[in-house]
Amino acid sequence: MTTTIPSTAPGGDLDSALAAWRRAIEPLNVIIDQAALRAAETATFPTEQKVPAILRPESTEEVSECLQIANVYRTPIYPISTGKNWGYGSRVPVETGCVLLDLSRLDRIVDFDEKLAHVTVEPGVTQRRLYEYLKTQRSRLWMDATGSSPDCSIVGNALERGYGHTPYGDHFAQVCGLKVVLPSGEVIDTGFGRFPNARSARVYRWGVGPYVDGLFAQSNLGIVTQMTLWLMPAPDYFQAFYINIENHGQLADVIDGLRPLRMDGTIKSAVHIGNDYKILSSIQQYPSMERGQKKPLSAEVLNRFAKSWDFGAWNVSGGLYGTRREVALARNRIKEVFRKNAKRLRFVDDHLLRLLQYIQSPYYRFTGLNLPELLKIMQPIHGLKKGIPTDRIIPSTYWRKKDPAPSNPDPDRDRCGLLWCSVISPTNGKDVKTIVDIVYETLTRYGFEPAISIIMITERSLDNVISVMYDRDIPGEDERAVQCHDELLMKLTAEGYYPYRHNIRSMKLVSGSQREYRQFLSTIKRSLDPNNILAPGRYEN
Ligand SMILES: Cc1cc2nc3c(=O)[nH]c(=O)nc-3n(C[C@H](O)[C@H](O)[C@H](O)COP(=O)(O)OP(=O)(O)OC[C@H]3O[C@@H](n4cnc5c(N)ncnc54)[C@H](O)[C@@H]3O)c2cc1C
Repeated sequence: MTTTIPSTAPGGDLDSALAAWRRAIEPLNVIIDQAALRAAETATFPTEQKVPAILRPESTEEVSECLQIANVYRTPIYPISTGKNWGYGSRVPVETGCVLLDLSRLDRIVDFDEKLAHVTVEPGVTQRRLYEYLKTQRSRLWMDATGSSPDCSIVGNALERGYGHTPYGDHFAQVCGLKVVLPSGEVIDTGFGRFPNARSARVYRWGVGPYVDGLFAQSNLGIVTQMTLWLMPAPDYFQAFYINIENHGQLADVIDGLRPLRMDGTIKSAVHIGNDYKILSSIQQYPSMERGQKKPLSAEVLNRFAKSWDFGAWNVSGGLYGTRREVALARNRIKEVFRKNAKRLRFVDDHLLRLLQYIQSPYYRFTGLNLPELLKIMQPIHGLKKGIPTDRIIPSTYWRKKDPAPSNPDPDRDRCGLLWCSVISPTNGKDVKTIVDIVYETLTRYGFEPAISIIMITERSLDNVISVMYDRDIPGEDERAVQCHDELLMKLTAEGYYPYRHNIRSMKLVSGSQREYRQFLSTIKRSLDPNNILAPGRYEN
């Protein structure tokens, strides 16, 4: 069969490449089925890139062969692990004409060490798989989970420098050594992994000499086929904390109050701070009785929901980990700092959560607070703080859809509109206020709810995640959302706040970086990938 879509590289020969790939990996795993290709070209916002084929290798050797063939026939390749990069571009390559290299069949847990707390995984190992594996090993170790689907890749997320909830929430910071297929097809092991007899490759991340692991995160310089990650020993005791803040104007004080607690180690985990719009969209869809009314949802209606669900203008949550005594000390410090600012301050451990489950119905009858529904969201959040993946957060992408999320949610397939703009700021109340003011002004002007979550991943910096959520089935919404996102990004970067991670639009939009730095990166790229066959255009390179 002759394929009609040309590859982007001049002189590329896709048909010959397809024939060679069918010899290198099982023909069944060279996919040119039109429905599968159209699905791979679909994200949660408009895209025009075409995907001419999908390859599904099952080993590092097959990945290497695929790349060698791509070089011979000048056919660009775009790797994904599980391709659930929703809100950032899903499976869609940055440039048109790239063949998708789907790594989900590389799904082995290669090595596990309970005593030294590390695990080595391939790209197809999902959050669910690792969590179940640790359970079957009766392990005393916790993984860290994201709020995205349990079927997301551990490797894909860490390579995008994603985050979670526990003290190990900064995912790339837990990486200790990679196996990488270079664009030429050659394979390298980083760190001490390059010495065949090295005994410390999985416990000492720097190796000796230049540290290169970072070159393969958010990059197009290699395909990672194995990654070693450190795991967290389960603490003696865990307690989650929840702080509700009544007024929007208090946010800067909250940030400035949290900073010293994170700096001095009172709080060791990632702290998540969501505004009222963010919380409501995690609990339910856009309220149907408000449909047909002017969008975005008004503050008045929002406040009604905030009262009935008992959330604040801003809502802080985090975990305390240690011995009972250490947790008690941390709890007292948090009380001291937030006693005045907080509308409500709650500490919940496993025991209390079980008790709440037990009394949920009578509690609802006596107080009117819908505890059964509240527990449906509280339980997964509590679990995330212990590294337990959940499928309860993905339905929030159906916020503006007419129909509720199905039992097997798929935001790409169901045309949920979502564009993330995730910018980093210093942990300063003043910086956050500047960002939040820009977000509220811009998103409401375009008719979108300004849903924001602020994540204190480390003590010094905050990730301000702004979601533009909409319904792709409503004519004109795609264009409006994209315009809104682009304007927001321009305004935030103009103030000095840059994304920690790009979506495939913002990769092309953010400009102004140092010329010498761009040259440095492109020198590396040209020397490793002279035919530019690996993920061209990814991260401005
Ligand atoms: C409701 C919701 C909640 C979310 N919550 C979170 C959250 O809490 N934390 C978070 O970080 N994200 C979150 N996300 C974003 C996203 O869904 C996750 O980051 C997800 O893990 C990314 O998809 P993936 O794991 O399938 O990675 P992939 O899509 O497979 O990979 C991401 C990108 O990395 C590159 N890549 C992947 N694998 C390789 C490889 N082996 N070698 C080289 N390059 C590679 C590719 O360019 C790919 O496009 C959320 C999304 C939604 C919709």
